[in-house]
Amino acid sequence: MSEKSNICPKTEKCPLFQREMLVSKKAQDIYMRIFCKAGEKGRNRCRRFQLVKKGFNPASDIMPNDDRTVDDIIKDM
Ligand code: SF4
Repeated sequence: MSEKSNICPKTEKCPLFQREMLVSKKAQDIYMRIFCKAGEKGRNRCRRFQLVKKGFNPASDIMPNDDRTVDDIIKDM
């Protein structure tokens, strides 16, 4: 698998990846390593990615590891 395919295709418009959501660079790097740069498996675990795939534009307070289900997040939107 190439380096590029490991990276989420939503990075350009994702405030988490664009470093707009977290103050801590260390925390940011951890999220990116676990979700954004971890191939299909990584992004498929990301709540933000799951919402985008369903056609939603997740607010910037929704973290990749939000403990709600996608359907619950949608209900709360
Ligand atoms: S994996 Fe999630 S947090 Fe990372 S760029 Fe994709 S949608 Fe954003």
